[in-house]
Amino acid sequence: MEKYRTEQIRNVVLLSHTNAGKTSLCENMLFQAKAISRLGKVDEGTTTSDYEPEETKRKISINLSLLPFEWNKTKVNLIDSPGYPDFVGEVKASLRAADGAVVVVSAASGVEVGTELVWKYADDRALPRILFVNKIDRENADFFKTVEQLQSKFGRKCVPIQLPIGAESKFEGVVDLISKAAKPPQSLADKVAAFRERLVESVAETDDNLIAKYLEGTELAEDEIRRALRAATINGKLVPVLAGSALQSKGIAELIESILNYLPSPKDKGKTTAKNAQTQQDEEIEPDESAPLAALVFKTTADPYVGKLTYLRVYSGVIKSDSSVWNATKKRAERIGQLYMIRGKSQEPVPQITAGDIGAVAKLAETGTSDTLCSKDHPLSLAPVEFPPPSLSVAVHPKTKADLDKLGSSLTRLTEEDLTLAVRKDLDTAETVLSGMGESHFEVSAEKMKRKFGVEVRIEPPKIPYRETITMPVEAEYKHKKQTGGHGQYGHVWLRLEPLPRGSGAEFTAKVVGGSVPKNYIPAVEKGVNEGLKEGGLAGYPITDMKVTLFDGSYHAVDSSEISFKIAASYALKKGMSQGQPVLLEPIMNVHITIPDNFTGDVMSDLNSKRARVMGMSPGGGINHIDAQAPLAEMLRYATDLRAITQGRGTYTMEYSHYEQVPPHVVQKIIAESKKEPEKA
Ligand code: GDP
Repeated sequence: MEKYRTEQIRNVVLLSHTNAGKTSLCENMLFQAKAISRLGKVDEGTTTSDYEPEETKRKISINLSLLPFEWNKTKVNLIDSPGYPDFVGEVKASLRAADGAVVVVSAASGVEVGTELVWKYADDRALPRILFVNKIDRENADFFKTVEQLQSKFGRKCVPIQLPIGAESKFEGVVDLISKAAKPPQSLADKVAAFRERLVESVAETDDNLIAKYLEGTELAEDEIRRALRAATINGKLVPVLAGSALQSKGIAELIESILNYLPSPKDKGKTTAKNAQTQQDEEIEPDESAPLAALVFKTTADPYVGKLTYLRVYSGVIKSDSSVWNATKKRAERIGQLYMIRGKSQEPVPQITAGDIGAVAKLAETGTSDTLCSKDHPLSLAPVEFPPPSLSVAVHPKTKADLDKLGSSLTRLTEEDLTLAVRKDLDTAETVLSGMGESHFEVSAEKMKRKFGVEVRIEPPKIPYRETITMPVEAEYKHKKQTGGHGQYGHVWLRLEPLPRGSGAEFTAKVVGGSVPKNYIPAVEKGVNEGLKEGGLAGYPITDMKVTLFDGSYHAVDSSEISFKIAASYALKKGMSQGQPVLLEPIMNVHITIPDNFTGDVMSDLNSKRARVMGMSPGGGINHIDAQAPLAEMLRYATDLRAITQGRGTYTMEYSHYEQVPPHVVQKIIAESKKEPEKA
């Protein structure tokens, strides 16, 4: 590709509910722009955008793809984003790198849950956008009904700038509403006139000069309308609505023209705020080649062949192949080798990437997603990509010993490329716990581990770190005595066990009078107690919230030893535990749920069935915030459950609060489970 000035670039993300046709549209645009010579199909797994095995197998996008093409001396960096909610991290990264969006809806399904979600994400970033009503060729496709829906959900600012000619099997193409030269068929003439009038009025309303002219009754010129429509789209006052069919390649050239005409170049987008790492002051940086370098890393992939690949969006200045840059986030120098232009899986070496453009570089040592690359004498840091926190956790078990050896390193590399994944070792259960966005996210992650690093894992629900404690104070005695010919064994202790308030943990003290247990054996008693505390008697979980006091015992001048006292102590503890009316404790979580108002009833009744306590609610503006406390054991699949109840509209966060006694009817189940599992924590 040639060198492009900043005004000749469009960075555009395609957003939609899953299945609306983003990937097919991208493929078509690339084909029409002659960036590819063969038109791939989603259903055959042959598109430029979805090339990873996890994607072709499922026929969905999982990763964002960069798909640049040239049209009329302009470089369009298309970014195809996944629609499936588990991969929202990739959507967030795409949004961060884009200056404008094409929101795709299906003319047969209309506005879907995912459409509303991506609309909100685009609102959050104030991204100028175009709406493309796809699948006009399909059965039940209705452009006009879809437009009504769009306007009622997103406002009157959604204005058609084209109309489809015919629909379903009779779909022929689109007619432009601005161009006077467009000749609609007779049957559509009235509609075209009416929609044109509405369009002109909407555009005029966004511009003081035009509205004056319009009200005077002067006819507005085509280029006047286009210019005002461009300005209104860029500042978010209007959203042009287009129509077409990716499958039949209709309306595609018009879509590309509209991207060029109405969506902003990085120059239109204007200055970006960056923090100067030296002065700690905010600086406004220009999307200009001559300005100091500031490039944001919005994605990192671990490729088994190329190694690490880092995707960059340059906001200002120029980054050059074979140069040295400064990573202001990590405060490290970084060597830039060969820069690439990426298209799907293919890479084309380029000498440089200039302000406003997007590209990639291989094998960076220090740099990760959300870091800023700049020059050392002008260190700048850009706002990071805002990834949602992981909401669901599973345990990851290696299948074989060889898998175990590589588990840690491959998980680390996976979390480097996917910041909506987090991994930790649970010290209580000794499990490797992976947190992410949903069940498909884990499945795909496991497949990637196998394909990229040759590591096979089983994914299971994580174990609950239950605890045991007693509910009444007891005193317990144990005498360990063995006479075996020569040297015998003798240790004898009396322990007092007392329940402590929740959250106290376990403690040990010695209050022996008259040296009934000599001082030098007390550490051995403590050791025995500590060992006993690791495994309670009910279901084998660690003991907590209990005070253990050694208050009496006896010894033998010849036969007593440290080991004898240790054994005596751990048996005494076991005995005491069983007499102290032991109970099981479980972790209780603070849960904060945000849902559209109308789901409140269903969410509450589901919470009830999960033994949750609702602590408070604050409805307002159609949204309800629910605060609740619920046992972790009931919340392991909450991400999935909440998604099902709210059709994906609800979100929640959850953190550990405290331990509470497990109700008796649940205890029996847990004990039975623990007996089934020999190597439990
Ligand atoms: P994405 O999930 O938004 O990327 O959607 P895809 O491009 O993967 O398309 C989803 C399905 O819709 C595939 O089976 C496509 O073949 C089909 N599809 C896409 N565009 C059209 C269209 O314009 N008309 C019809 N009839 N089907 C389409």
